Amino acid sequence: MLRLALTPGRFAKNATASRSLIPGFSMARRSMASTSDEHDVVVIGGGPGGYVAAIKAAQLGLKTACVEMRGSLGGTCLNVGCIPSKAMLNNSHLFHMAQHEFKDRGIDVGDVKLNLDAMLAKKDSAVKSLTSGIEFLFKKNKVDYVKGKASFTSANELSIAPIDGGSSYPLRAKNFIIATGSEPSPFKGVEVDEKQIVTSTGALALQKVPEKMIVIGGGIIGLEMGSVWSRLGAEVTVVEYLGAVGAGMDGTTAKTFGRILQKQGLKMKLNTKVINATQEGGKVQVNVESAKGGKPETLEADVVLLSIGRRPYTEGLNLEAAGVEMNERGQVKIQSDFKTSVPHIRCIGDVTYGAMLAHKAEEEGIAAVEYIKEGHGHVNYDNIPSVIYTHPEVAWTGKTEEEVKKAGIKYNIGTFPFVANSRAKTNGDFEGSVKIISDAETDRMLGVHIIGPNAGEMIAEAVLALEYGASSEDVARTCHAHPTLSEAFKEACMATHDKAIHA
Ligand SMILES: Cc1cc2nc3c(=O)[nH]c(=O)nc-3n(C[C@H](O)[C@H](O)[C@H](O)COP(=O)(O)OP(=O)(O)OC[C@H]3O[C@@H](n4cnc5c(N)ncnc54)[C@H](O)[C@@H]3O)c2cc1C
Repeated sequence: MLRLALTPGRFAKNATASRSLIPGFSMARRSMASTSDEHDVVVIGGGPGGYVAAIKAAQLGLKTACVEMRGSLGGTCLNVGCIPSKAMLNNSHLFHMAQHEFKDRGIDVGDVKLNLDAMLAKKDSAVKSLTSGIEFLFKKNKVDYVKGKASFTSANELSIAPIDGGSSYPLRAKNFIIATGSEPSPFKGVEVDEKQIVTSTGALALQKVPEKMIVIGGGIIGLEMGSVWSRLGAEVTVVEYLGAVGAGMDGTTAKTFGRILQKQGLKMKLNTKVINATQEGGKVQVNVESAKGGKPETLEADVVLLSIGRRPYTEGLNLEAAGVEMNERGQVKIQSDFKTSVPHIRCIGDVTYGAMLAHKAEEEGIAAVEYIKEGHGHVNYDNIPSVIYTHPEVAWTGKTEEEVKKAGIKYNIGTFPFVANSRAKTNGDFEGSVKIISDAETDRMLGVHIIGPNAGEMIAEAVLALEYGASSEDVARTCHAHPTLSEAFKEACMATHDKAIHA
């Protein structure tokens, strides 16, 4: 995995480009595209990697364009990923609470009914306001927004096929940043139609709550979408090849998480291999067998969500014309400063190495631009947080217990349960715990794993602590407001270097 050193001066002063914006990169501009009109940077892809890189480049005084073929900015994340899924997670959680918890909390609301059309419309309006917000930021920062599909014709030139159907035109630049993202991985024998057999994109737009839903793959996306439809009334079965859900998670955290999801009603078929899926009589039949072989079984559902991961997306980019190399997994090969095999073409985000996460792509976008402008940039790949936005949330950063064990590091563990946290108890929302892993000799924090309410917000404190090389004692001696959930984090740190007070 890529490792970049922390370099000084990473917070370079902003410089505003003094040139006029030509909105939508009009026909006039297209015909002007020549060497004299050359951009300093052209970013291909307007997702969180690409749009952040473009804004940063313009802020650093580089003449910048961003090419996006989707018709809206924000990429997978804003259009069909992070944002719509979180809108559905939040509102389905509220619905579930209104149905099952409000009464116990002293709130009588009568009959609670789902209005799925309105819930989907609310999700769409959140997406619209955020994607148009990026268009505004492009204008504000004077980034040329090129609405079209980019394809390399050489290492110095792209051909842009406009999304409005006009004729293609060239776009030249001194530097390119490839940020074309990813797409759902296909599975032979399970053909997606985005109606009954869906990817996450279809799962975000189901027009009816399925009676039965099968989720193929117990990773982050599968569990989030499975939770949404389960809360809205579907009977959800997660089929996972491995022996636990939440691949990549700390082992004990994954076990606890799996138990919590089952308690919520999600059925788990672990160690189970999907063979194929067929459609008959308005249902989908999924043929499975034990991962170790044998014991075939057919499961039936109204909707099947295929979520076995995502793969890099480079279709139509014509990387060969530029001489940019890919590896056998379809990832664009890069070196330590995001340079591809062609040095003035850099690459960031899902389409290259590392975790497929929006914030990782954003960090890389900024660092890649800083490399272009200043010769140095910074991303700490040892401290990229992951969050699963179920309820309770799961969030972690740094090393898992399995990783430190494998590395032969002597370590201490400190845990603190939310049931002993006053705010969590008061809120009646106290499932889960905080787990800290620290170096046994130096007490330096190595990893933090949280299951609990608002874990996704709390992990920011852990990320900051790890970034600054904090010991668990440093955090334990830092005053935390009372009553807050973050006191559970402090207490877990107390338990790591000494003893917790409240447990
Ligand atoms: C359901 C779901 C939920 C998710 N939730 C989270 C989450 O909660 N947190 C998180 O961190 N991550 C989440 N992710 C992952 C996150 O969306 C991605 O990691 C992130 O979007 C990657 O950013 P990117 O800029 O590399 O690529 P993308 O966001 O994929 O953007 C690439 C863009 O490039 C454009 N493009 C591609 N080829 C061309 C071309 N030739 N010419 C012009 N444009 C082109 C595409 O249209 C696309 O808009 C989720 C993903 C999904 C599917």
